Amino acid sequence: MIQTVRGTRDILPSDMPLWHRVEAVAREAFRRYGFREIRTPIFEKTELFARGVGEATDIVHKEMYTFTDRARQGSEGESLTLRPENTASVVRAYIQHKMFADKSPGELTKLYYIGPMFRRERPQAGRYRQFYQIGVEVMGSSDDAAIEAEVMEMLDWFLKELKITNTTLLINSVGEPASRAVYLETLREAIRPNLDKLCGDCHHRFETNALRVFDCKVESCQTVVATLPTITDSLDEASRQHFEQFKAHLDARGIAYTVNPRMVRGLDYYTRTAFEIVGHDGLGAQNTLVGGGRYDGLSETIGGPPTKGFGFAFGLDRMVMALSEAEAESLRAADAPSIFIVFLGEAARAHSFVVAQQLRAAGVAVAMEFEDRKMKKAMAAADKSRATYALIVGDNEVATGKYGLKNLKTGEQESLTLDEIILRLN
Ligand code: AMP
Repeated sequence: MIQTVRGTRDILPSDMPLWHRVEAVAREAFRRYGFREIRTPIFEKTELFARGVGEATDIVHKEMYTFTDRARQGSEGESLTLRPENTASVVRAYIQHKMFADKSPGELTKLYYIGPMFRRERPQAGRYRQFYQIGVEVMGSSDDAAIEAEVMEMLDWFLKELKITNTTLLINSVGEPASRAVYLETLREAIRPNLDKLCGDCHHRFETNALRVFDCKVESCQTVVATLPTITDSLDEASRQHFEQFKAHLDARGIAYTVNPRMVRGLDYYTRTAFEIVGHDGLGAQNTLVGGGRYDGLSETIGGPPTKGFGFAFGLDRMVMALSEAEAESLRAADAPSIFIVFLGEAARAHSFVVAQQLRAAGVAVAMEFEDRKMKKAMAAADKSRATYALIVGDNEVATGKYGLKNLKTGEQESLTLDEIILRLN
C-alpha cells in the first residue's frame, strides 16, 4: 500500500469546512482592508530564495526542496526550489510586473496569497513538510508605522471573527541592517565565552548568523540566551522612534501586545518591526500562529528598486487547529445536505430525479441514493447523510404534487408542494 510522504497529509472532507471557514474569514478581512489576491508559482529559481530569504537561514541552509530541472538543448538544467515561503515570490512579482510604476506618492500595493509551502523540517504535530500559508504584503515607498498597526488591527478582527481569543501579540524591533551589524558583533562577543554550553546547531548559528541563537528551542541553550544582550539596547534612533510610533498606533486602536526583545524571527530580510501571534490552547510546542515583519530592502536584494515592505503569514494548518471544539463542531454540522430524497418504487424514483433537479436549480443542497429500498433502510440512509430534512416521494406524492417533508432532528412531518419547500429552505 502506497501512503503519503512523511510530513505530508491528506486534508479530509470532514475537516474541509474548518479550512473553508478560515479562508473565508481571511478573504473577508482582506476585502475590508483593501488587499487583492496574487497567485505565484509553486516553484521558482533557487536563487530567489537563496538571496531573498538568506543563505544563513535554517530554511535555505537545510530545509528547501531543491532539484535540478532537465537540461535543455545547449544549456544545463537550472536549479529550482519548491517555495518555502511566499514573500520573496510576491516581491519578485511586484518587481517583474513593475507594480511600482505609475504610483502616486504614498500609494501602497496591498496583496494577499493562499497556498502550500514546502520545508524539509522534522515533522511533528502542527509542523508539516507541505503546509499552507495565508499571508499579505504591503509594498510602496512609505514605511509609516500606521501601516503595521492597520495590519495588526486586521489580524485582530480576523481572530475575533474566528472566536480564537486566547492569543498574545509579541512585538519587537530588529533595527536597520547597519545597527544590526554592530549589535551582531556585541552578541558574538557575549556568546563566545559560553560556546561550550551551546548545541551543535547554535555553533553553526554563531558562525553564520548569531541572531538565530534566539530561535533555539534547546533548554540548555535557552539558559545562555536569557543572559545575552538584546537588540533593543543597540537600536538605531530611527528604528527606536519607528517602534515607539508603532506602539502608539496599537494603543490608539486598543490592541494589546507584549514587547519581547528576544523575538527575532527566522528570516534574514526583516528590518525594524517583527511580530508573532502565539496561541495557547491545544497547539503544543508549535504555537506560533502568525509571523511577520517589515522588510525594507528585500526588493533591492533581489534586483528591484528601493521599496518598503511589511507583511505576515499564518499557518492555515495551525489556525484550523486553534479553532475551538464548539466552533469546529458547528462548522462540521453545517456541512450537510438540506434535503435527502427518499423514494418508494420505480415511478417515484423517476419522479425524484425531476424533483432533485428542480430543488438544485433553486439552490438547495440535495442528496439522494439511487437504490430502491424499503422505507426503513431509506430513512436510515437519510439520517446517515446528516441532512436536515427527508423528502418522501411515493406514488401518492407523484399524483398529488405534495411531498412529505420530515424534519430529521424533530421527527415532525408536513405535506408541502415543491414551491412551499423551496420557500421554506431559502
Ligand atoms: P514563517 O514563514 O516561518 O514566518 O512562518 C509563519 C507561520 O507559518 C508560522 O507561524 C506557522 O503558523 C506557519 N508555519 C511555518 N512553518 C510551518 C510548518 N512546517 N508546518 C505548519 N505550519 C508552519
